[in-house]
Amino acid sequence: MEIPFVDLTQQYQNISSEIDAVIRDVISSCSFIKGKHVSDFESMYRDSYGVKEFISVANGTDAIYIALKSLGIGPGDEVITVANSWISSSETISQTGATPVFVDIHPDYYTMDTSLLDSKIGPNTKAIIPVHLFGHAVDMDAVMAIAKAHGLFVVEDCAQAHFAQFNGQRVGTFGDVGTFSFFPGKNLGAYGDAGGIICNDPDLSRKMRMFANHGALVKHAHEIEGINSRMDGLQAAILSVKLPHLSKWTAQRQHNADLYYQKLSGISEIQVPQTDSRVAHVYHLYVIRAEKRDELRAFLQKKGVATGIHYPTPLPFLKAYERFGFLPSDFPVAHDYQLKILSLPMYPELSESQIDYVVDSIGEFYEK
Ligand SMILES: *Cc1c(COP(=O)(O)O)cnc(C)c1O
Repeated sequence: MEIPFVDLTQQYQNISSEIDAVIRDVISSCSFIKGKHVSDFESMYRDSYGVKEFISVANGTDAIYIALKSLGIGPGDEVITVANSWISSSETISQTGATPVFVDIHPDYYTMDTSLLDSKIGPNTKAIIPVHLFGHAVDMDAVMAIAKAHGLFVVEDCAQAHFAQFNGQRVGTFGDVGTFSFFPGKNLGAYGDAGGIICNDPDLSRKMRMFANHGALVKHAHEIEGINSRMDGLQAAILSVKLPHLSKWTAQRQHNADLYYQKLSGISEIQVPQTDSRVAHVYHLYVIRAEKRDELRAFLQKKGVATGIHYPTPLPFLKAYERFGFLPSDFPVAHDYQLKILSLPMYPELSESQIDYVVDSIGEFYEK
């Protein structure tokens, strides 16, 4: 059996007639940049979150950068983010001229360990970027309490957490803004790069919309200098077809996670992911910790099971951050987990027989 890590082909086949129709519509109406499909998707996403504004942008990385710039973050400032994430969560801080400050991960939930936040706050701290990694929400009670006490902005990186909840509330709606990626493999994925920002503050929304469009809300009326970060019509049209399916796809991911939990429970060499009881996890990734991880991964590869590592090197230990000279003891949990974590195949269309095959193959490896 061949089990891919994600299967975008199968999802396309299930909705191909709708997708093909909207693609033809975008092309025949030549609404390639901005236009009706983009404004329609903006209202759909905004309404699905019940927020005042949704600003479509070119990708999830720009979404963070645009938010930070529009909040006035720049040289001399510090922004706190997490030691294990995709590099967008920290490179965007540096791009504004500010300095990223990393916090170690929680040993159970893989997300920012909020008990360490206070120790990272100094006179130059301006903002916190909680990353709802793998689809598991960060403890937003803790983040918001600390942000309030110190007057910090909160930019929630929701790239892996569409529809995830903390205390029954959607992530992205706690902080000043919530940023999303619609990269093809994300829980809501376009057929190219796309991203967006949700926000309830009209002034901040206006700034972000302007900054993302060369500093102009009206053509040629450049109030500031900005960047070119726009969602294109094709991506917006495709996302509008997919968004109504997202609740069902999320439930399918959660069901698949339940199956993994049941079936993996007998394998003592594996640690399954834990969920904070206040969190509704959306399982962008199902990340286990495994003894002899690299040998297991190679064995699964031979059996036709594709896996991933998210991420092979925690952010502070990347060459890109050599300048800080971090030691393993600065981020002991992230450092320890980098050799143990393994992401198993996870997508809505994954079948129970495929899950059985993945689990049986893991069992076979440890019985050898
Ligand atoms: C994917 C991702 C991003 C960036 O999104 P792009 O659309 O690829 O630019 C940011 N943060 C996290 C945690 C991600 O997983």
